[in-house]
Amino acid sequence: MIHAIQVHEAGGPEVMQWDVFDPGEPKPGEARIRHTAVGLNYIDTYFRSGLYPAPTGLPFVPGNEGAGEVVAVGEGVTDVKPGDRVAYVGPLGSYAEERNVPADRLVLLPDGVDDRTAAALMLKGLTAQYLLRRTFPLKKGDTMLFHAAAGGVGLIAGQWARHLGVTAIGTAGSPEKVELALAHGYDHVIDYRKDDFVEKVRELTDGRGVDVVYDGVGKDTFPGSLDCIRPLGLWASFGNASGPVPPFSIGLLNQKGSLFCTRPNLFAYAAAREDLVAMADELFGVVTSGAVKIRVNQEYKLADAVAAHRDLEGRKTTGSSVFVV
Ligand code: NDP
Repeated sequence: MIHAIQVHEAGGPEVMQWDVFDPGEPKPGEARIRHTAVGLNYIDTYFRSGLYPAPTGLPFVPGNEGAGEVVAVGEGVTDVKPGDRVAYVGPLGSYAEERNVPADRLVLLPDGVDDRTAAALMLKGLTAQYLLRRTFPLKKGDTMLFHAAAGGVGLIAGQWARHLGVTAIGTAGSPEKVELALAHGYDHVIDYRKDDFVEKVRELTDGRGVDVVYDGVGKDTFPGSLDCIRPLGLWASFGNASGPVPPFSIGLLNQKGSLFCTRPNLFAYAAAREDLVAMADELFGVVTSGAVKIRVNQEYKLADAVAAHRDLEGRKTTGSSVFVV
């Protein structure tokens, strides 16, 4: 019998239940995956709470990332076959022992990337890839500010920035997290629960400001993030860990120095198969070369998703978290 976590109504972590689940046969274009590991991501909490409505309605199986083995394929699938070791970021439904996934979302895993690492790096690593390489293509000598530097995306982004020759300033919410981020590529890390991060960034950049702020914290770092950016720089607001950014007047971007602003998401950047494959190849390249190390600092059973969400929303986790299936 197959089990999955299901959300029957939007709300706190307690709305998730461990249910018997029938994924059905793979439809044309789909592959059936037996998960060995599933990624835990902050976006999972947005769907669970209702901040992002689930496109499938209620109940739904949360989760957008997993790794495992192909056990069956639907009609017309030629890129993967039973026995292949694969990972994906894709539509909701990964908090399940088995599920069907559109086969064009799957990537074959290289030998140097085990399943647990794959489930820890796909969504977070592809996000770091597009933010640092496409949203604001960083080059040697640039300076970035990355909020929640000790988190899942944050630890990957710091190491990748160092690999690119970029000066990386991070923020983190405790002295232990500051130390962890410093050990993962960041040149400077500000404890933003203790110090004023705007003032510190101004000091660190001799008043100039950074070229780009990558902001996954949202409400609590707005509008401070804008005061950290040099004229004509970019504010990439990519998440809501503290709550969504409130509506604001576009005139603010003028006042803060003719800034650019974007609200990007991975699913748009990786929508085309060729982009997904190119992004994943680059990500696997920096991981297998050792330039970026994936830190799986928390492991849970899928049935313990409630505890996992409490830890993530309670700021108790660092680096990546996975469910081992
Ligand atoms: P993290 O592991 O970074 O966890 C979130 C972190 O945010 C916490 O650990 C905490 O770190 C910080 N934080 C700050 N304020 C709060 C608060 N009030 N409540 C909870 N946490 C807070 O998560 P992920 O790596 O999974 O994701 C990071 C961000 O990136 C999220 O906002 C996520 O939605 C976004 N994201 C966006 C994507 C996109 O394409 N747009 C794709 C992937 C992720 P600290 O204690 O150090 O402040």
